[in-house]
Amino acid sequence: MDIHEYQAKEVLAGFGVAVPTGALAYSPEQAAYRARELGGERWVVKAQVHAGGRGKAGGVKVCTSDSEINDVCETMFGMKLVTHQTGPEGKGVYRVYVEAAVPIAREIYLGFVLDRTTQRVMIVASAEGGMEIEEISAEKPESIVRAEVEPAVGLREFQCRQIAFKLGIEPGLTQQLVRTLQGAYRAFTELDATMVEINPLVVTDDNRIIALDAKMTFDDNALFRHPQIAELRDKSQEDPRESRAADRGLSYVGLDGNIGCIVNGAGLAMATMDTIKLAGGEPANFLDIGGGATPERVAKAFRLVLSDKNVQAILVNIFAGINRCDWVAEGVVQALKEVEVEVPVIVRLAGTNVEEGQKILAKSGLPIIRARTLNEAAERAVGAWRNDLSQGVTVRAVS
Ligand code: ADP
Ligand code: MG
Repeated sequence: MDIHEYQAKEVLAGFGVAVPTGALAYSPEQAAYRARELGGERWVVKAQVHAGGRGKAGGVKVCTSDSEINDVCETMFGMKLVTHQTGPEGKGVYRVYVEAAVPIAREIYLGFVLDRTTQRVMIVASAEGGMEIEEISAEKPESIVRAEVEPAVGLREFQCRQIAFKLGIEPGLTQQLVRTLQGAYRAFTELDATMVEINPLVVTDDNRIIALDAKMTFDDNALFRHPQIAELRDKSQEDPRESRAADRGLSYVGLDGNIGCIVNGAGLAMATMDTIKLAGGEPANFLDIGGGATPERVAKAFRLVLSDKNVQAILVNIFAGINRCDWVAEGVVQALKEVEVEVPVIVRLAGTNVEEGQKILAKSGLPIIRARTLNEAAERAVGAWRNDLSQGVTVRAVS
């Protein structure tokens, strides 16, 4: 789960990371009012969306008066901000953060990520702040400083000092950098984050080290341990299909093609999508119904997949290990009787009780296209989607 910049700043501030003073606003009037409350003469108005690259896309503006804040906000609110991280559809701006403008002397890149190879938290830093990390690694790879954290002892001061030295931080400011690094590391580990990015971390004209931007991503599977973080979820920034699935306890990933996939297990989902692509199709989404595929769960899955208007065929691919194919088949049949499905449905079952499962599908009298192997299923799904009747099957399933 991602959170907004202002939320990440509040979280990090709680761990001792210095951030500028700022306040949140839901309307242009409120933004101007917030600026007056903050005081000072220069403010930065920042669109709150779950994506970086806002500066270049017009989502970060420096203002020097009430009326300017008002004008900037009039265009920002309600706009779909398109940055290189949002995709062409953009992300809606419904909140802005008004912040005191900070006199920047230097911008530094700082990131904390999980390095799967070493199974450790990796700190990635660069003296070339302000640029995105992808640009830095393409253009100035030599500027990147990396450090691994040994989980048993945590981030040690000497490591932080090493990083400070490599970034060319003035000795007098090292202690501030140590505090920032250790604070961000503690926030990362204690809150089960998967990413913390401070870009830029700045050194100000008056020698303060401040996080000017902040991004945090959390492990969804650990959110139950952090209700205060789970509360920060902003559904307006998520794919509505995915949030609806999450609310129903299903895991769903929306994509751009036409073939809806109902599968069990993420690995099988990946294999299913690969095979669809190989057969010349494009997956519209994938929905993982997980281990216990009760008929109710399968029906929910169908409803969700169908709510995506792009879906022109549904491929159900289940490998029953803990599940049983006969139960899954019952679920599919029940779902097709309950939910009006007007697109071809292709079902491939494998594993425990597969024969019984096939019988249930055959006996149902429903126009389900059956397949024995994943290849066959993918080819039939793509064929059915293209309305290719040469396979000798009916391609309409209705309740
Ligand atoms: P994004 O990464 O989405 O473009 P940032 O928060 O990093 O958004 O802002 C972009 C740039 O705007 C920063 O690199 C910095 O130069 C400037 N900026 C952002 N916040 C402030 C601030 N409070 N004071 C001064 N400049 C700022
Ligand atoms: Mg940034």
